[in-house]
Parts: sequence; structure tokens; C-alpha cells
Amino acid sequence: MAIRITPCGAARTVTGSCHLVEVEGTKLLIDCGMFQGEEEEKNYEPFPFEPGEIDFLILTHAHIDHCGRIPLLVKEGFKGKILCTRPTAQIAKIMLLDAAKVMHETYRSRLKKAERLGEVVNPPLYEELDVLDSFEFFSTPYLEYEREYQLGKELRVTLWDAGHILGSSFVELKVKDKVFTFSGDLGNRGKPIVRDPSQPPPSDYVFIETTYGDRNHRSFKESKEEFEDAVLKTLYRGGNVLIPSYALERAQDVLFVLREMYERDILPECQVFLDSPLAINATKIFLQNPEFFDRETYRIFKERDPFSFPYLKFTRDVEESKKINDIKSGAVIIAGSGMLTGGRILHHLKHNLWREECSLIFVGYQPKGTLGRKIVDGADRVKILGEEIAVKAEVYTINGFSSHADQRELTQWLSHAKPQKAFLVHGEEDKMAVFSEHIKKVIGLDSHAPEFGESLEF
Ligand code: ZN
Repeated sequence: MAIRITPCGAARTVTGSCHLVEVEGTKLLIDCGMFQGEEEEKNYEPFPFEPGEIDFLILTHAHIDHCGRIPLLVKEGFKGKILCTRPTAQIAKIMLLDAAKVMHETYRSRLKKAERLGEVVNPPLYEELDVLDSFEFFSTPYLEYEREYQLGKELRVTLWDAGHILGSSFVELKVKDKVFTFSGDLGNRGKPIVRDPSQPPPSDYVFIETTYGDRNHRSFKESKEEFEDAVLKTLYRGGNVLIPSYALERAQDVLFVLREMYERDILPECQVFLDSPLAINATKIFLQNPEFFDRETYRIFKERDPFSFPYLKFTRDVEESKKINDIKSGAVIIAGSGMLTGGRILHHLKHNLWREECSLIFVGYQPKGTLGRKIVDGADRVKILGEEIAVKAEVYTINGFSSHADQRELTQWLSHAKPQKAFLVHGEEDKMAVFSEHIKKVIGLDSHAPEFGESLEF
């Protein structure tokens, strides 16, 4: 019996995660993510398979680069079942609604400019109604970790905790007597809220992400200390703290750490703003799923809200958000976007970036070409909302808040699975090359980085 696996995204790159698995009569996808950044155009190419023929979509987690093309898949005829954990389904739904809104707004603002230039812009991939249509394909009861589900005569699936974001999974696929494991995105050990990634089962073949295949992070504990110092130093000298953050997991990590500081009585009186409706909604979903927390967070949850403390304010309204601009000192502002590519953080930058008593704390990776990267690289002045602003605030880059396993953790995880061969996905080519050499040397494992659309037969 031939088993065919075809990478249809995140092949020698980090976005658009999607794998097609074909076993006798059954076709399934693992993830259906959006291409982002430089690869955005690929979202407009037709799927390299017939969406109507897909029986199952197994969703590893709710990040847009893993779930973002689901409404498009449904629009193009998908009638199968979407299988995932409960938090993944709940978070994916708010992420997709937000993506539709952002695409709609971006399209409208690009359209005006393009018309004046006589250019054409791509319409949004889907609208809010398409997102709502896709919800009915999320299959209930949701899948539980470490429980085997039969999908076909010779096909069984088990989800394991990937420790990446709340509800995230890696996938064990048993096809007859062969075991294929797909890592999804693997988490970084020692993070608050989520558990450490589970060890993988013994596997014949592993498809593994390689986002940080070439490096090791500082530990979360060291990064947390660095973060605390930066916040305290800024507040004591009378400035405001700006924290650009992803709405999902990173925002909750930051709240968790600030709450700890408050409880340890080291946080001076201040006003902390979670200035992002998406992050506020994500935090609410976290609180509905405490059984997915790690032991410590669950213990805290039994007594109180792990993400809340008296100085914290949620700002949903745009007007409330604008009012924060009047505060000259003692504000800690958590807002998106995490890479400063848009969103409410831009207003806060305009009011604070030029003031040397303030600080800007990056807790996430800043890719090339983004405003965040320009500031990290030391620009003296930057253009924000059409205005030149001097960069005088103190800038911190803290890497240990990452939600991805590093080289050491990926290698250790792979050595548990003991596969005959590893397939490297979800990584940039130079990082994959370093990781491939590393695992050959350290654990004697052969690997291959498949290309987009390359059919692998087993
Ligand atoms: Zn992810």
C-alpha cells in the first residue's frame, strides 16, 4: 500500500504550513496555514489538491500560519472534518475572524492608493461570512491528547501536547504498521502557562519544524529577570513601558510575569494596559481551558486569575486606547502588532518613542523588513503613521519568551522518536542546513528538506 505525503506549504520556509497525506482512499491535511510576509502572493495560487476530496483536516494549533487558509479551503469546496483540541478550535475561530477584518481593512486602504497609481490589488482571501461558514466543519467532540482515534481502516491518529501555545498538538499518524509523527510547532521548555512538550512516540518517520534549528535560546528564567529589570528601571525613572506583543500566548506570558511581580511586591504602583481586543478575547479563552495549563498555572488558577492583578486594565475601545496617550509616566502598555507592522502600538510609539525616559521591550522575533527590525538594528529615527520620530527610548530585545523549541530541544525530542529519517519543514533554508548537519553529527540521523509539492512515497 502506497502512502504519499506532499508538503503544500512551509517547505523550506516558515509560513503556510500544510501537508497532504494520501493513504489508499483517504486524503487528509495536516494544517492549512496562511503564507505571510514575502510569501503572501502564494495564498492566491490554487491549492495543489482538490479541496472537495479532503476527508480530514488535522489542525495542530491556532496560529494563522497554520490555520489561516481554512475559510478559503471551505470556500473552494472542503466538506470534511476539522479535527483539533478544544482550545485550538476556540482560538482559531477568533484568529480567523480577526484575519478577515485585517485583510478587509488592508485591502480598502491599499485600494485607494493603487487606484491613483493605476495598479491592481488582490482582494481579501475571504470575508467574515466565509469565516463563519467554516465554523461548522470543526468537528465535536474535540480531540483529547494521548487518545487514539480511528480515521479509516488502516489509519489512526493521536494528538500529543506540543507545549507551543494553549491547546497546541503534534500529530502521531499510524498507517498500518508505520508511525509518522508531525511536530507542528514545538514549544520551548520552562515557559509559564503551557506544559513542556510531550516526548514523541517511537516513530518511523518524523516531519519536524526547524524555526530555530540553528541556535539555542537563553532560558526563560534569565529572560524573565531581564524583562523585570527593564520594566522597573523605566517606571522608577518616570517613563512609560511599551511592549509590542502577539495577541496569543505572548500577551498572556507578559501578564503572567507582571502579576508575579505584583504579588512579589516589586512592581511599583502603575497602570498596565492590555490594549488589544484580540489579546483580551484570547485571554478569556485561556481562562475557559484551565485543564490545559501546566501544573503551576493550574494551581494558581484554582485560587485566582493567573493573568490579572489590580493595576491591569483591558482596553477594547479605540477611544479608551487613545486616552492612554495622555499618560506621561507610570504606564505599561501591551499592544499589537508584535512586529510593529500595524495596530494600536503605532500610536503609542508616536507618543513615547522619542522620550528617553521611556522604553520599548521586544519579546518576540522581529523579521527583516519590519519597523520592529529597523528599531532593533539601531535606527536613529523611523517613520510612524507618516511622521518622522526620533528613537530615544531605551530598546530591549528579550529572546527567551519564544514559543519555539531551540536546537538543543529539537534534537532531544527527535532522539526520543528515533526515526529512520527526519523530514525538515517550517524553517528557513540556511537554518535547516545547520540543523541537518547537527542531527547527523550528534544523533547520527539522516534528514531531507522536501520542496513545495515534492511527493514523498513510503
Ligand atoms: Zn505556531
